Amino acid sequence: MKRLCVYCGSNSGGQPDYAIAARQLAHAMISKNYGLVYGGASVGIMGEIADTFLEEGGEVIGIIPKGLFVKEVAHTGLTELREVNSMHERKSLMAELSDGFIALPGGFGTIEEFLEIITWSQLGMHQKPCGLLNVCHYYDKIIEFLNHAVSEHFIKKIHRSMVLIEECPDALLEKFETYKAPEVAKWIDQKSI
Ligand code: AMP
Repeated sequence: MKRLCVYCGSNSGGQPDYAIAARQLAHAMISKNYGLVYGGASVGIMGEIADTFLEEGGEVIGIIPKGLFVKEVAHTGLTELREVNSMHERKSLMAELSDGFIALPGGFGTIEEFLEIITWSQLGMHQKPCGLLNVCHYYDKIIEFLNHAVSEHFIKKIHRSMVLIEECPDALLEKFETYKAPEVAKWIDQKSI
């Protein structure tokens, strides 16, 4: 089975639309027979997407670092909960088990996880699709900043194009299905030094 990793807030956010979008994404993924890989928590948007998956009989693998969060935070009803030794191990296992990566709205954790996986993509370490689900235009300012970084020649256009963006889960999953990673021969080549 193909699996997608979803990064998302451990908080619920300031409006119900964020949780609604998490549930819509779960339904869209299940209808396309995708399993879910995520951070293993029962709280916030993370809990919302995991619970919806489980209610619909979907496969959910949670990956949580030992001892970092209070015990009650870990979701106890998942198909599989893997405990790892560090945040680094968690992120690399999430990457290994998944065929693509989606960020729903979230805070530092979500943004950091997404930027790391897109950086790995830029380095040619994987060729899997990475997308922002821009619910209620939550990510507009980050998107604006990425475009600014392109104008200022810190991000190449071809690398910026690796960030897939949609407001609706079905449209994002469609982009995932046709995604072909641009060829990245070398991150630092002769021309860029
Ligand atoms: P944030 O966006 O800062 O709420 O962080 C959410 C992201 O960071 C998730 O994708 C998780 O992988 C990780 N994370 C942060 N807080 C927790 C938590 N309390 N329990 C499990 N994972 C968390």
